[in-house]
Amino acid sequence: MDLQDEGRSILLDLGDVRHVAARKLLRVERAVVTHTHMDHFVGFDHLLRLVLGRERELVVTGPPGFLERVAGKIAAYTWNLIQDYPIRLRAEEVDGEWIRSVLYSGESGMRPVPQPQRRTEGTLHAERLYTVHVTLLDHGVPVLGVALHETEHLSVNRDRMEKMGLTPGPWLRDLKEAVRRCEPGDVPVEATETEGGVRRFRREELAEALILRRAGQRLAYVTDVRFTPENVARILPLAAGVDLFVCEAAFLNTEAALAAERSHLTAGQAGWLAREAGAKRLAPFHLSPRYKGREQEIVDEAAEAFGGPVLILPDEASRGDGGP
Ligand SMILES: [Zn+2]
Repeated sequence: MDLQDEGRSILLDLGDVRHVAARKLLRVERAVVTHTHMDHFVGFDHLLRLVLGRERELVVTGPPGFLERVAGKIAAYTWNLIQDYPIRLRAEEVDGEWIRSVLYSGESGMRPVPQPQRRTEGTLHAERLYTVHVTLLDHGVPVLGVALHETEHLSVNRDRMEKMGLTPGPWLRDLKEAVRRCEPGDVPVEATETEGGVRRFRREELAEALILRRAGQRLAYVTDVRFTPENVARILPLAAGVDLFVCEAAFLNTEAALAAERSHLTAGQAGWLAREAGAKRLAPFHLSPRYKGREQEIVDEAAEAFGGPVLILPDEASRGDGGP
């Protein structure tokens, strides 16, 4: 999930990310790992290696037991040459209302330095642009269900911009950023004209003309859960009214028994959850490999149960590798 114009992004799960361009992965500031079955955690090493030379901290969050899993990953490597690297990795574990965290850094030779515990009450992270919320779900093992809330959605009135004879450029990104940060309006801004010249405005005047403000968008991400009353009771509030509900649809209803045995959802169950939660759109994903070439059947079943628009995620985000 890219944060518009920010050069920052959030990763939901850490599966096989080798096919994602390094420049994209280098934007990741935060990864939420739902659980540590291999298909959700095998990408940790790849991401870690990329950020060894990065100044910005990487925060990786997981369910109860996660710190031990991360420690195991880190302990698998030799770190005698790491001292001069800027790497800062903060690993967090959500356990009920509490978050425990440790910091690994080049400076500490990648040894875990315990950080103060903090209370969550469901909110993992809150800042000016977005908030992250989690709930604990059951998949035979604890799994994190995740929601991302954008604080406010800013967009550009393109028609207006054209009529004013202006053309997009870095000035526009700077303007949006200034609005988002509530920076002073009484500052000159140089906007690029379609003809190639430059025109000066006061920032607040230009923002007033061009920037549209709307309520932020919301997304919920749920995968690898059993269809149980307890899970349903936690998923519905997490996904209530979201703009996009990204939900696993591992099996078809005809294989509901197998889905239950493996602690997964069917496409019909995903559609039902989306409808009950009042989600605006549903993106079913994490299909069992047995449906290769029959993905449309999953989509159709989810769509029928949901009764709303269903969309297919780009391939890089939707691969369900299956397996433990
Ligand atoms: Zn799993």
